[in-house]
Amino acid sequence: MSVVTTDKNNKNMKATIIGGGIIGLSTAYFLNEDGWDVTVLEKGDLTDNCSFGNMGYLSPSHFVPLAAPGIVSQGILWMFRQKSPFYVRPSLRWDLIDWGLKFVRASTQKHVERSARPLVDLLLLSKHLTADWQKSGLMSFEYRDDGCIMYYQTAKKEAEELENARMAEDLGLKVEILDREQSQSLEPDLRPDVRGGVWFKDDAHLHPNTLMKQLPALLEKRGVKILKNAEVVDFQKENGKIISVGYRIGSPDSGEAVNTLTSDLVVLAAGSWSPKVAKMTGEYIPLMPGKGYSMTVDTPRQLLRYPCILLEAKVALTPWAGSLRIGSTMEIGALNDRILFPRVQGILEAVPKFLPGYEDDPVFRELADFDKLKKDIRKKVWFGFRPVSADGMPYIGFAKKTGNMIIATGHAMLGLSMGAGTGKLVAELAGGKPASIGMAAFDPKRY
Ligand SMILES: Cc1cc2nc3c(=O)[nH]c(=O)nc-3n(C[C@H](O)[C@H](O)[C@H](O)COP(=O)(O)OP(=O)(O)OC[C@H]3O[C@@H](n4cnc5c(N)ncnc54)[C@H](O)[C@@H]3O)c2cc1C
Repeated sequence: MSVVTTDKNNKNMKATIIGGGIIGLSTAYFLNEDGWDVTVLEKGDLTDNCSFGNMGYLSPSHFVPLAAPGIVSQGILWMFRQKSPFYVRPSLRWDLIDWGLKFVRASTQKHVERSARPLVDLLLLSKHLTADWQKSGLMSFEYRDDGCIMYYQTAKKEAEELENARMAEDLGLKVEILDREQSQSLEPDLRPDVRGGVWFKDDAHLHPNTLMKQLPALLEKRGVKILKNAEVVDFQKENGKIISVGYRIGSPDSGEAVNTLTSDLVVLAAGSWSPKVAKMTGEYIPLMPGKGYSMTVDTPRQLLRYPCILLEAKVALTPWAGSLRIGSTMEIGALNDRILFPRVQGILEAVPKFLPGYEDDPVFRELADFDKLKKDIRKKVWFGFRPVSADGMPYIGFAKKTGNMIIATGHAMLGLSMGAGTGKLVAELAGGKPASIGMAAFDPKRY
């Protein structure tokens, strides 16, 4: 096992974290708590990244890794439907092909069975740590323990979800099966043809934009240095270890010189850009960006009471005090700012199919006015790039060839749900402490 420090208090030990998303900032929190001198390098200005516009779910219910049986055939069918929630941009790029082959290979029942326990352990650890941030009064980000309800309209989805519920109970999660009437009494606006739902009671939700604003402020108050518009561009290595990280303030053509930061420990938490940064150190991380969209509206009257996922459409909805967020889609492969309008349309069209009241809701009708939306798409539609690993499991652990670099990425659809837990595990690993949970399933050296 690599150990970066043997000093129990990590005194004078410098940690550099690459990336100011939920993973990088959570890691900064726990390393700072353990006494490290922490600097976060972020190429953006910390007003947006994948950790901002997501659905805000903390989801212990999501213990099935993305690479699971059935996903490949379903994905292929979806690729031919313009409004479907899944798309892989066909390309002969070798990194996409390599990722795809690994993904297909991992999509087995055995992998699901092996992965469920470590995923639940990390999801529960992370949820409790995140809840503590709010409950201890450190931050306030609309955290609520309301669970999350998966609604279905077809017998096929019902059967799949009931199987999921059974697995969840075996893993010790609290689950309630809702029939048609019980669903309707919880959400009076549900269409009568919604057959029922599964209510995952251990799930929680929060307002991610608020968390992502408050967490860096808290870190700075505690002495963490956060450098914005600071893009990592190279590394100096000696004897298999990074001795300093090179970063540039501003764009590559700003003329700014490359600064260097000496580091005892480097944590790579650059989300979908992690493979590019890893390559600078001689490491390879099989990971693809998975673009997703969300739209947020301020709603004076809240039609929805609980966060829910409309299973047939794969659309998620989150109600907060004064707003509603609707999100979905997974477009694998390209880090670009293209918004595929039919997919956005598909998300919005799915909502009244489950919740017809939205058809009469002026706020929703304004959003779903597709002519207007097309003109205003950049303002109204947010997108983010989920860092999707090749087997649906996050990468958390020491890198293969770089003794003092810890990789913390690949959290795909669950980065917010696993952020605090990942930060805690990284700090434990860096300090040579026993880990809170088993980490073997997350070892980046598996590839
Ligand atoms: C529509 C949608 C809904 C979602 N809903 C949920 C949800 O409800 N619950 C959940 O758990 N997850 C959800 N997710 C997933 C979650 O948002 C991601 O898993 C998470 O945000 C990833 O965090 P990250 O810190 O790894 O990456 P990011 O948030 O992308 O942060 C990485 C940061 O690294 C920086 N960076 C990159 N390269 C460099 C460099 N060279 N130098 C310096 N900085 C660099 C980037 O600028 C970026 O700010 C959702 C995602 C989407 C798209």
